[in-house]
Amino acid sequence: MKKSILYAKLESLDRRLIKPSREVKEEIARCAAGFEGERKLLYYLSEINGPIRILHDIRLPFPNGFAHFQIDTLVITRSLLLIIDAKHFSGHLIFDRNTRQLIRGQQTFEDPITQVLRHKRGLEHWLDKPVPILPVVALTHPNVRMEMTPSDSADQSFIMYAQEIPAKLDEFLHQKNPILTEKEVHLLANRLQFYHKPYDPDVVTQFRICPEQLQQGIQCFQCKQWSVKRVKRKWICFNCGAALKDPHLPALKDYVRLFGVRTVNRQMREFTGIESASAVKKLLRKWAVEKEGETKGRVYILPEEWKWE
Ligand SMILES: [Zn+2]
Repeated sequence: MKKSILYAKLESLDRRLIKPSREVKEEIARCAAGFEGERKLLYYLSEINGPIRILHDIRLPFPNGFAHFQIDTLVITRSLLLIIDAKHFSGHLIFDRNTRQLIRGQQTFEDPITQVLRHKRGLEHWLDKPVPILPVVALTHPNVRMEMTPSDSADQSFIMYAQEIPAKLDEFLHQKNPILTEKEVHLLANRLQFYHKPYDPDVVTQFRICPEQLQQGIQCFQCKQWSVKRVKRKWICFNCGAALKDPHLPALKDYVRLFGVRTVNRQMREFTGIESASAVKKLLRKWAVEKEGETKGRVYILPEEWKWE
């Protein structure tokens, strides 16, 4: 399972911020909990038999083309589509159906049931055949207890503990006749993946970061100082003396996550602290997937996958 672009970008931002930001750290903690919840869920889903496809963080447009909906986990089976929103919360959760809020102690959160129902409406537009869609909020934390008010609300059926899901899904699949062929399961999964547009926010703007707040240079893997320099075709840390293999690569990736895939020699020299234009030129020629323009002011396009890999 790979991290989301947002998660990877926040980690780069956090690493580069000279003065740590509480706001960024809190957002990273949310991403980490979400990631852990999905990982747990995937562990339980691996018990399911039969031809299925599982898609993660799939983000698709609504028919109007402007708004998008993002499904954390989508399980495609021959007779049912399961939309799962994993909530990795511990403690006592109250799903208040009157106010449509999720409450834990003094905190309130957006109602995940309303969210999965919205995802269901979005997904319906992408189906050629009327396959039943079951939206579920999965509680993945081992120390969670949930309550619903009013306690007899029919919305109870949308909440499941992660460990219950394989058995409930098996039961459902046994009762229903398949609607999709095995081939159609794969075709649908491939089509959704094709139109998937990952959430790719500009975190520098979102957190109102000025360039002066960001650390320049290349970080040493060993002592974590920003003191790596290129000396006679070798990367050496001037703080601990370590000789390092490709320490510039994480720096190039940080650049892509914070400023995008396009860069020019001068920007990269400033960001990495490498003074030699010809050394930077060599690196950019090696890693760029595309170039635009001639010699002076040439724009290099770095790999899009670096946003999350
Ligand atoms: Zn070092």
